[in-house]
Amino acid sequence: MSSPNCKRCLLNELDGEYFKSIYQYIENIPLEQKAPPREYGRRLALCKNCGDLQNGMCAQCGCFAEVRAAKLRQACPWGKW
Ligand code: SF4
Repeated sequence: MSSPNCKRCLLNELDGEYFKSIYQYIENIPLEQKAPPREYGRRLALCKNCGDLQNGMCAQCGCFAEVRAAKLRQACPWGKW
């Protein structure tokens, strides 16, 4: 895994154990409220290339990017997705 301070890293690239509960939360989002896997991947690819992604968190909204992107009705605060 990468260093604990990784600009432009998603949580899945940081130290695993700590973020387990966040992945459980994402997994438990009801299917009808979840972004389809392809859309989720597209969103995360945009976050990965965004200067506002810091240690898995979006500096614009303070959300974990993976959590925000997982929810169908959420949007990027900058309109990137
Ligand atoms: S949600 Fe938008 S502003 Fe935030 S890290 Fe992703 S692309 Fe960047």
